[in-house]
Amino acid sequence: MSKRILILGAGFGGLAAATELRKDLGPDHRVIIVDRKTSFMMGLVKLWILEGSRGLEESQTQLDGLKAKGIEYLNDEVTKIDISQNRVQVRDRGWIEYDYLIVALGAELVPDRIAGFVGRGYNLYDAQEVPRLREKLLGLKRGKVAVAIMGMPYKCPPAPYETSLLIDNMLTRHGTRNNIDIDIYAPAPIALPVAGPQISANVVEMLSQRGIRFHPSHKLKSVTGGKLEFENGSKADYDVLVGIPPHRAPELVRSAGMAEGEWVAIDRNTMKTKFKNVFAIGDVTEIKVGELALPKAGIFAEEQAKVAARQIIDEISGRPAIATFAGKGYCFMDVGNRRAGYLEGDFFNPAGPSLRLEAPSEQNFQKKQDFERTRIKEWLL
Ligand SMILES: Cc1cc2nc3c(=O)[nH]c(=O)nc-3n(C[C@H](O)[C@H](O)[C@H](O)COP(=O)(O)OP(=O)(O)OC[C@H]3O[C@@H](n4cnc5c(N)ncnc54)[C@H](O)[C@@H]3O)c2cc1C
Repeated sequence: MSKRILILGAGFGGLAAATELRKDLGPDHRVIIVDRKTSFMMGLVKLWILEGSRGLEESQTQLDGLKAKGIEYLNDEVTKIDISQNRVQVRDRGWIEYDYLIVALGAELVPDRIAGFVGRGYNLYDAQEVPRLREKLLGLKRGKVAVAIMGMPYKCPPAPYETSLLIDNMLTRHGTRNNIDIDIYAPAPIALPVAGPQISANVVEMLSQRGIRFHPSHKLKSVTGGKLEFENGSKADYDVLVGIPPHRAPELVRSAGMAEGEWVAIDRNTMKTKFKNVFAIGDVTEIKVGELALPKAGIFAEEQAKVAARQIIDEISGRPAIATFAGKGYCFMDVGNRRAGYLEGDFFNPAGPSLRLEAPSEQNFQKKQDFERTRIKEWLL
């Protein structure tokens, strides 16, 4: 019997899932992926656009490339998930039925949750805003740059720190750094709660060596012209505000009854939701590790995508489904000057998450570039 596997979202997780499914399912089974975007760009490229080594347009890869790989790509907006009827509504084409559903819609950004931010601050996680942020930073002759983590959890926990180091590097090359302060404000008491106090201290040390000040336990409450106000009652001045907005699961996922709290709950081994034949992967999900949650990162979305795909393939093929998610991942932390640190972690370690940070090197930066290149090639070219 021919099966129809529907994937919502052609981001990191959706593309990895479609690729894995197509490897082992015969052509009688349909793999359909829906995304409102026509192109894909990895999140980490935003930082290269900010520091000027990449342009926004040249970094996009067209999703049309999926067709040549036997994957049906629909450029459409998902508007409703109707789990009781095994179907999904998309804006232009109406209802699509599925045998298996993989929800990979990522996280929704909600910058307007922080009063006064929209119109005053730059959303670092919106690719369209990054080139304008770059212009603004380069136009600043003296003053204060504030980088604010506006909510937890957020994608790629090291990204605000990488951003601050890249801004330091950019302004140094531009000759203005001596007249510009860089401050990072974070809601958590340490820099990377999920990585623990030692790695957090290493990151703060790296920042302070470059004259970047870190302010823990500073959750942004509101922004007025030139002033930040925090929930702890303190205030700070800024000239350029770089914000990492609060995140949540997309509204349509929550209204489909899939979310528990703000995120979709899944079995941490199989990626199955509590609904039959419905999987969820990547940023739209939450996997608790002790008091904290697994970080939102592409590397996890990708691994989870492979597990969900293998589960489906085995079930269709009548084999026992044995693929499980191990909770292991890594990332390369940009520090500027074509160097990157390497952070790897085992988040399902029975004694608690165990992480290791390797010092920055040119080789790690090279590996970061390969990380992007190899995946784009496999998924889309
Ligand atoms: C600055 C930055 C740096 C990062 N660096 C790294 C890194 O070094 N390593 C790493 O592993 N991760 C990194 N990440 C995180 C990584 O990008 C995300 O964790 C990853 O993209 C999550 O994959 P996903 O498939 O869950 O969601 P996404 O990749 O966000 O994909 C979701 C897709 O769903 C689509 N979509 C959403 N709603 C709808 C709808 N209603 N209809 C149709 N389509 C819809 C979107 O258009 C999108 O294409 C970084 C992120 C940022 C912002």
